[in-house]
Amino acid sequence: MAILPPIDAHAHVLTNINGRELRALRSVVFAVTREPSEWAAAAARRDEFCIWGLGCHPGVAAAVAGFDRDLLEELVATTPLIGEVGLDGSSRVPISEQRRVFRAALEVARDKSRLVSIHSVRASGEVLAEIEAVGGIPGAILHWWRGNASETRRAVDLGCFFSLNGAEALRPKVMSSLPVHRVLTETDFPHTRRSDKSADRPGAVATIERALAEAWSMSDDDVRLQLWKNLASICTATRTSSSLPRRVQGGLLTIR
Ligand SMILES: [Zn+2]
Repeated sequence: MAILPPIDAHAHVLTNINGRELRALRSVVFAVTREPSEWAAAAARRDEFCIWGLGCHPGVAAAVAGFDRDLLEELVATTPLIGEVGLDGSSRVPISEQRRVFRAALEVARDKSRLVSIHSVRASGEVLAEIEAVGGIPGAILHWWRGNASETRRAVDLGCFFSLNGAEALRPKVMSSLPVHRVLTETDFPHTRRSDKSADRPGAVATIERALAEAWSMSDDDVRLQLWKNLASICTATRTSSSLPRRVQGGLLTIR
């Protein structure tokens, strides 16, 4: 079996990046956006290994103010991913405004059955309450999750997936409490570079993969395969497999 490429389930990439540069990363990248002004460009892209997300970052006042549910519903037809969305307890944007936008994004994700990459800085419990309020989200991926032990159990019970990065590998908090079949990897490029020097581009998930190999007592190849199985499982749950880029679909076929 050919080695499957690394999976980066949360990275920030400019929507006008050259397709050749993305291909050169040799990784499956979930490229999230922060503002509605980026959505049209993200939705129009067709990249071999890159899945573009439509996001509205809770820390960006202009993004929250400019959130447009109708536009999200329209453009999400072109992509399996919503993100990054969420709540941020350290944001200056009023929490009621953040909640209005996050709730709407979750409702769209639920109704259209999409993957969602979720930000939860200093708002772990509040994020879970919103997921519960919409009756659960099969495609929820909690990105850079730092919830406490009981919140983490609650998130696992809600069916959430977790994308872990090099910062978690270097200062482990949640890794050992997560079921192996719910874990994905990410860089949150460029934001983890400060703690994980090797996360110098999207797809550079070696630090967290190595930590998972240790934690799970698996070989590097088996960790990669497990992560692909997890990707397959969340895509099956959301029925998004057929809207992934063809090359990613091809990878998923090799592990079934
Ligand atoms: Zn991010």
